[in-house]
Amino acid sequence: MQDAPYLGQALAQRVGEFIQIRRAIHARPELAFEEHETAALVAHKLRGWGYAVTTGVGRTGVVGTLRRGNGRRALGIRADMDALPVPEATGRAWASQRPGLMHACGHDGHTATLLAAARLIAEDVDFSGVLHLIFQPAEEGAGGALAMMADCLFERFPCDAVYALHNMPGIEAGRFCFRTGPAMASSDNVTITLKGRGGHGAFPHQACDSVVAASSIVMALQTVVARNVDPLKTAVVTVGALHAGQANNVIPEEARLELSIRALDEDVRQLVKARILALVDLQARSYGVEAVVDWRDGYAVLVNTAQETALAVDVATGLFGPARVDAQGPMFTASEDFSFMLQKVPGCYLFVGNGAPGTPGGCHVHNPGYDFNDDIIAPAAAFWSRLTAAYLQDA
Ligand SMILES: [Zn+2]
Ligand SMILES: [Zn+2]
Repeated sequence: MQDAPYLGQALAQRVGEFIQIRRAIHARPELAFEEHETAALVAHKLRGWGYAVTTGVGRTGVVGTLRRGNGRRALGIRADMDALPVPEATGRAWASQRPGLMHACGHDGHTATLLAAARLIAEDVDFSGVLHLIFQPAEEGAGGALAMMADCLFERFPCDAVYALHNMPGIEAGRFCFRTGPAMASSDNVTITLKGRGGHGAFPHQACDSVVAASSIVMALQTVVARNVDPLKTAVVTVGALHAGQANNVIPEEARLELSIRALDEDVRQLVKARILALVDLQARSYGVEAVVDWRDGYAVLVNTAQETALAVDVATGLFGPARVDAQGPMFTASEDFSFMLQKVPGCYLFVGNGAPGTPGGCHVHNPGYDFNDDIIAPAAAFWSRLTAAYLQDA
C-alpha cells in the first residue's frame, strides 16, 4: 500500500519516520489524563513544523494551529492519545514497556497519523484559513473531549467543522467507512441497589429477599428493547454485573445490578430510561424491597452531519477510488466522546479498516493481542491532508 500513487513523494519518503513515532508511543502507553510524555512529544513535533502550540487544554490535551492566507474558515481534526489498563500480549518488538498498560485501541496510531498529516500539511499542502489539530486526552470513558470543551476548546480555537477517525479491525486495511446521521451509540451507566431485609435461608417468610427481586428485574429489563423500542430502531440493555450474598443459607439484605445502556437515537435513549426507571420501581415495590437507581449519563449519540460527511466521502473517493470507500456504512453500538464535539460543531467521525479478519490487523481493539496497523498511517495521513486542502480552499 505504501507505493500507492496517492501518497505523493513527500509522504512516501517520510512514512517510516511516523511508523517509528507510532511504535515509540506504543512502547510507552499512558492512561487517561496522564498523557504527559505523549503530549510533550506531540507539542515538540508540532512546534518544529511551525505550528502555534497550546498545551494543557483539558489537562493533557494539545492544540496545534496553523494559519495561512485570508481564508475565513477554520477546520479542526482530532486524534485521541490515551491507552488502556490491558496487559499486552502481542510479543512485538515495540510492545508496551509499562506492565499492565497498552495501546489496545490504536490511539497511538491515531496520534502518529495526525502528526504525519501535520508535517505533510505544513510542508506540502496549499490552503487558506485556519487549521486546528486537536490531540485529545482520555477518550476511554473519562471524557477527555468534555474536559477540553470545558476548558473552552471551541471558544479559544473556533472551528467550522471537526473531523476524527478510528481504526477498525475486521475491515480490510485502508478501507474508509463513513455514515451520515447517527453512527455510534450513547452509553449510559446505571447502578441499581435493591435493599430488602436479610435473614436465615430456612425462614424466607421472615425476610425480604433482594435476590429474588433482582432476578425478576433482570428478566423484566429484557422486555424494554423487545417490547417498547420500535423494532426498526436499536437499543441495548446489558446487565453486566449482579452482586448479592455470600452463603447458601443466608438471605442477603442487598443486591446490586450494574447496567450498560446504549441507543442510537436520543428519543430512544430517553424512552429506554423512562421504561427502566418505571420497571425497576414497580418490580421492587411488588417484592417489598427498596430500589435506589444511580443513573450516570455517559457519551452521547454520535451524529455525523450530511454536508461535512459528503465532503469527506468525496475526498476519500478522489484519493482511493470508490472501491475502497463505503459512503454509508453500518452503525455501531460502541460509543465515542467525539459525539460531544459533534453536538457543538458540524463534522464527521469515520473509520479506517485496520485489517481483515484473520490478518494481524484483524484482532479486535481492547484485546491483549491487538496492534495498530502501520500500513494505514500513510493513507489516513494523505486523507487528512487532502481534506484540509479541500475544506480550506481560498474562498
Ligand atoms: Zn477504545
Ligand atoms: Zn478507541
